Amino acid sequence: MKNNTKYFEQLGIMTSAVNEKQHDSLQAMITEIRKLKKEKNAKILSHYYMPASIQITEELGGIADFTGDSLGLSVNAMNVSADHIIFCGVKFMAETAKILNSSKNILLPDMHAGCSLASSITGKDVIELKRQHPGVPVIAYINTYAETKAEVDVCCTSRNALKIAKSFKEDKLIFVPDEFMGRNLRSVITRETGKEMILWSGKCEVHEQFNKRMIDSYTLEYPEAEVLVHWEVPDEAVNSSLKIRKGIVGSTLDILNYVGKSNAQQFILGSECDLGATLKGMYRDKEFVTPCISCPHMKTITMENTLEALRAIGTADEEKYLVDVPEPILSRAYIPIKRMIDLS
Ligand code: SF4
Repeated sequence: MKNNTKYFEQLGIMTSAVNEKQHDSLQAMITEIRKLKKEKNAKILSHYYMPASIQITEELGGIADFTGDSLGLSVNAMNVSADHIIFCGVKFMAETAKILNSSKNILLPDMHAGCSLASSITGKDVIELKRQHPGVPVIAYINTYAETKAEVDVCCTSRNALKIAKSFKEDKLIFVPDEFMGRNLRSVITRETGKEMILWSGKCEVHEQFNKRMIDSYTLEYPEAEVLVHWEVPDEAVNSSLKIRKGIVGSTLDILNYVGKSNAQQFILGSECDLGATLKGMYRDKEFVTPCISCPHMKTITMENTLEALRAIGTADEEKYLVDVPEPILSRAYIPIKRMIDLS
């Protein structure tokens, strides 16, 4: 582990050991990426669901300038002053960065990095929902494409969804597109405010797999463990596990913070596999058990294509990595995202 000890130590904690061959090729890519970032005036933003090797920040010897959840990345994207942002996440996130900082070049290392939730709804669907429910405000989870955001009243992330839903005076709200997150939210909102929530039927193909049977079998196997479940996990699994165990249903950041405050040593994680790696990297003395279900869309982003995107800046190949949100969609989608940030 010659040159970059901190990076490989962190990577070793977050993943299984890196062999010598992988080590040499990773070391070469890290060195080139860090050099190119300086030369081309670029920053790398990375989501917590990225492969562990891409999440590690520069200060720990890695390549990312900032690693965070959707809200953290959105806010950070607004303030980046570099000319180029390499977005290590999925396409709707890169679009959000473009909407918030439109003068910058946003590069996505793989344009196929989609999302089952984002593609479950379109702008036309929102227009039809509004026609069916006139005057009812529409809240869209940030996991939507720009043309959907352009039609809604406000966006939310898993971190601020409750606060945003509660900020409306109306006694009815439409929440799109995640049905399970909507049901989890609805049980709290309806209990606390009496508001009715109309839901869409989109699903996250990763979190929907954490069904009641799976979580129940983990709680039987690990009787001392606390439960960490994301808002996008089916409500039946959330309710049954939290009835018998201490734990939390919340956003990615809620989960990270909860572990920091808990005295428990063992946790059952009901969220994307690499969040387990992030947790292990942050809390080395604690144990995280998870069926390790990975998001195939997030995993299309690799160290290799991140390097390719950086190399392409200023060449004829740059075009194929550039995220474009045309007008008037960009200006219209900016309004609900900005409203969310102001309310957060
Ligand atoms: S984890 Fe789920 S919500 Fe997130 S990008 Fe993948 S499919 Fe979409």
